[in-house]
Amino acid sequence: MNKTLRKAVIAGNWKMNKTPSEAKALLNEIVPLVADADCEVIACVPYVDLAVAVEAVKGTNIKIGAENAHWEQSGAFTGEISTGMLKEVGVEYVVLGHSERRQYFGETDETVNKRTKAVLKAGLKPIVCVGELLWERECNITEEVIARQIKLDLFDVSAEDVKNVIIAYEPVWAIGTGRTATDDQAEEVCAFIRAEIAKLYGQEIADGMTIQYGGSMNDGNAAALLSKENVDGGLIGGASLVAAKFAAIVKAASV
Ligand code: PEP
Repeated sequence: MNKTLRKAVIAGNWKMNKTPSEAKALLNEIVPLVADADCEVIACVPYVDLAVAVEAVKGTNIKIGAENAHWEQSGAFTGEISTGMLKEVGVEYVVLGHSERRQYFGETDETVNKRTKAVLKAGLKPIVCVGELLWERECNITEEVIARQIKLDLFDVSAEDVKNVIIAYEPVWAIGTGRTATDDQAEEVCAFIRAEIAKLYGQEIADGMTIQYGGSMNDGNAAALLSKENVDGGLIGGASLVAAKFAAIVKAASV
């Protein structure tokens, strides 16, 4: 395995935070702080903020992502957004299968798989989230859970397409709780994910795949987590809403 084959990717997941004017203000703060980043920097923002966000980062090194996308292009799907809509606005990445979607909105591996394929077909890049519940970790079935999610979420995704997928390992018990996985726990599961990808797609594709850790990553713990061989970046919730903290994480990923 060779970390130099992969570029670190730091993505903010703003969740249901920031109005369009607040989004513009936050991005204006972030832009100069991350201008010399040696990693990919993404802000995944609420749908209504997308147009403003794309405009705010024009000509900078920040890319904009959405927090979900439907698998159909149009139709009777009240409340959903299509990949075509996202593309036209200038979105490049889409978070899929976040545990909050799975937990509160009935998202399943089947729908995550459909969304993943639609996002890839549109030429967008999915950040596919996987992770175990605390109960599943305590029962020692973390690997089983993760292997199942990877297999189902990527079902029928070709080897060519999977090169555009980012996997985010997000233990559900660490999201928004302030309880971070230890560096070793993060490394262990990210390495496991890479091994599962190698089984499905071969070692070369696995070695090139970006696998992020997410779950209470912040400016204090990022450097240690990101120093691990198989942790190629982070999906950041709370800390991505504070420009200085997000910029510090980007800096930690840029060394
Ligand atoms: C997330 O929303 O993906 C996340 C990891 O949140 P937090 O960093 O707040 O735990």
